[in-house]
Amino acid sequence: MYAEIISIGTELLMGEIVDTNAAYLAARLPGLGIELRWVSQVGDDMDKLSEVIQRALSRSDLTLTTGGLGPTSDDLTRECIARVLREEIRVDDRLLEDIKTYFRGRGGAMSSYNIKQAAIIPSAQAIINPRGTAPGWWVEKAGHTIVAMPGPPGEMERMWQDEVSPRLRHLIKGVVIVTRTLKTIGLSEAAVNEMIAPLFESTNPYLGIYARSDGIHLRAIAKAPTNAEALALIAPVEEHILRVLGPSIWGVDNETPEEQVGVLLKKRGLTLATMESFTGGLVASAITEVQGSSDYFRGTIVAYSNDLKVTFGVPAELIEKYGAVSPQVAEAMAEAACHQLRADVGVGTTGVAGPSELEKKPVGTGFIGIAYNGQTRSISGRYPPQRPLVRRRAASHALVELLQMLRGTGQP
Ligand code: ATP
Repeated sequence: MYAEIISIGTELLMGEIVDTNAAYLAARLPGLGIELRWVSQVGDDMDKLSEVIQRALSRSDLTLTTGGLGPTSDDLTRECIARVLREEIRVDDRLLEDIKTYFRGRGGAMSSYNIKQAAIIPSAQAIINPRGTAPGWWVEKAGHTIVAMPGPPGEMERMWQDEVSPRLRHLIKGVVIVTRTLKTIGLSEAAVNEMIAPLFESTNPYLGIYARSDGIHLRAIAKAPTNAEALALIAPVEEHILRVLGPSIWGVDNETPEEQVGVLLKKRGLTLATMESFTGGLVASAITEVQGSSDYFRGTIVAYSNDLKVTFGVPAELIEKYGAVSPQVAEAMAEAACHQLRADVGVGTTGVAGPSELEKKPVGTGFIGIAYNGQTRSISGRYPPQRPLVRRRAASHALVELLQMLRGTGQP
């Protein structure tokens, strides 16, 4: 089954809101065995919306719309579906009563504008919306299904989970889509591509390559009649990737380095502290996003200025001799984090976030120090030379390197 999403609202086209509804739905369709082929955004305009719906009918089996179901005159989704399907739209007494009941329950009066939310066409069934006044529509006509859902994400997500997705599951039998993501570190996108080039020729599973802040991700997508068959299609591809890229792979699927670091520290009864310069606390922030991190995370020192680095234990001679942005200072920061914050494992970060070079080192240069068990080492990084990217990438890099070190697969 091929699907298409239409996100409706002029606010989307003005850049005032981001289309999180489409992302939410797109992430859930593969699990139902539905292949998403197109996503469109369209404003609150009768002709343009009708045109997009018409096009969706001609090329997709399933059309999911969000937005435009409100009571105001710019909410046109119902009218446009009716127009494209050439059906008469009429107010349904039972739906109107439901909307009146909704308002009574909130102790407010219903505006006459809300009446249009009770309108429906013969080939549509209303989908209940306990979180709002706008019922959704489930339309089946000439082998095509249109599902119209409200725009507010809370209303849409509830309708999707409780009403739409179970119905779609029932409708689609015989195809599942399974994905598997393998996450690498330390290799460029081009290098990964070259190392496993033949795998990109396959269409089932389809292999995609993506650059993320925590490294290059590879995602295999397989389609088959059953989950087991889809997994069997992915297995040889995964084996091939593991064989070629093995030590560079740090995680799979939804794993994050901060969660995995937490799991390992907890398991071994170790504590962690950080001293951060150019990442400004981003490493500590990621670590503390994990529930239960107080069990192993001691704290952080954001030592942005050189004199603070010295105050908290980095030898001034090192900064003088090698510069603050150096592997030696990254290592000294990791050791200082351990000593000052009384932790078993210490992480230090120093680098050039930009916009200008520092100590003749270009923007995007970074060093990560890791101290553990009487040994300290540093890893260098080169990040895209834009300030927000440098900081985020470096923080992710530090976490992945820490994870690799704890697993015993880190670089010497
Ligand atoms: P309402 O009854 O609230 O008017 P509606 O179905 O008409 O519902 P819209 O008016 O199109 O929905 O959007 C209402 C609000 O929902 C928007 O202001 C926005 O905050 C949110 N919203 C709408 N579409 C999206 C989207 N695609 N992604 C994220 N948020 C959205």
